[in-house]
Amino acid sequence: METWKAYQQKNKERFLDEMIDLLRIPSVSAKSDHKKDMLLCAEAVKNSLLASGADKVIIMPTNGHPVVYGEKIIDTHKPTVLVYGHYDVQPVEPLELWHSGPFEPVIKDGKVYARGSADDKGQFFMHVKALETLVKTNTMSTNIKFLIEGEEEVGSPNLGKFVSENKDLLKADVILISDSSMLSMENPSLDIGVRGLSYIEVEVTGPDRDLHSGTYGGAVANPIAILSKMIASCHDENNHITIPGFYDDVLEVSEEERALMNLAPYDENEYKQEVGVKELWGEKGYSTNERTGIRPTLEINGIWGGYMGEGAKTVLPSKATAKISARLVPDQSSAKMTKILLDYFTRQAPPYVTVKAFEHHGGEPYMTPINSKGYKAAVKAIAKTFGKIPVPVRGGGSIPICSILEKELGVKIIFMGFGLDSDNLHSPNEKYGIENFYKGIETIPWFHEYFAQNAN
Ligand SMILES: [Zn+2]
Repeated sequence: METWKAYQQKNKERFLDEMIDLLRIPSVSAKSDHKKDMLLCAEAVKNSLLASGADKVIIMPTNGHPVVYGEKIIDTHKPTVLVYGHYDVQPVEPLELWHSGPFEPVIKDGKVYARGSADDKGQFFMHVKALETLVKTNTMSTNIKFLIEGEEEVGSPNLGKFVSENKDLLKADVILISDSSMLSMENPSLDIGVRGLSYIEVEVTGPDRDLHSGTYGGAVANPIAILSKMIASCHDENNHITIPGFYDDVLEVSEEERALMNLAPYDENEYKQEVGVKELWGEKGYSTNERTGIRPTLEINGIWGGYMGEGAKTVLPSKATAKISARLVPDQSSAKMTKILLDYFTRQAPPYVTVKAFEHHGGEPYMTPINSKGYKAAVKAIAKTFGKIPVPVRGGGSIPICSILEKELGVKIIFMGFGLDSDNLHSPNEKYGIENFYKGIETIPWFHEYFAQNAN
């Protein structure tokens, strides 16, 4: 529609400025000293929705950070699209690796550098500006609701309860999420699934205090060595995970789907360069795309213990700790996997140490069918603005709330992400392409248009 393009062209600088303003708010949900910033950010999201034409926006409390709900209802007989996003961001450490302040957005090489630019402020904000486009050009064909939460990066601990208590308010015909990436601007893609997550912490304790490594070394087990050994034994020589039961519920993907997946353009050298490694690593028998899409994996997210200060200190530490997570695929269950992991680490404990393990957050894997009305509308919208049919791919990340949203609201989720894997999500120097941002704003109205046509 020409009016959309004209409106967006005229307002593009302002759209970008507004997004950048949102990035200045350090809404780190994991840290209690950012509680005020979280409220400030929720307020800013509310104001942006109101300014963009939503006729009702409420900041709704939860047991954690609040949810921002907004809506523009044009006709209750028309289909309703629920947009989900999150205004919280990941912590920024290690700060010294950032080229510019994580909350002082900088534009460089056509990209906005700041924490939250791609994940997810820059992406959900495209929907806010798509709403504005539709409202201001008087071309809405669907009702639009917004559910923008503040706890995605800490596992959405309160959203399940919130959704189940507000089913009527959130009632919709499809859920649209832009919180993922596409292969590239030249090769647009749509995620058809996300992996689930189990996350645990393991603490190994040896002596009741740090000991002199000369006096006691050799006579008392070193918790760091014990923990390292337990972790190292999790993968065999084929990088297959050895934990009993780990692969039990994995839904094997058909040869046909694997062949389709592997059609997605992939350049191994580029990939290696992108992440800065000399060689790739992974489960034998699977391609890179398969390893990050259809296979469960195990990662050590952090490990510490003993002396970590400047210079040398000869201690035999009392404790060693690691944070360990698994990405899950259909039909694995997060609760079951968490139990498998906790059992594995506690049962393996040799008698000379004590192992304590406990659970952090988790989430279920999710798959969306490619024959749904929502998926078809997304394909048409992307084809319209990118001039190419998007490839279906399985995302490697996790959005734990997906399975809960579908269960509570009874509708399918469409993942229309416009970021790139190279956007440094959760890493220093997170960025989001300005072209991606504009392309998203251009594409989203078409989704609504095609969904409305299709749903009738
Ligand atoms: Zn996100």
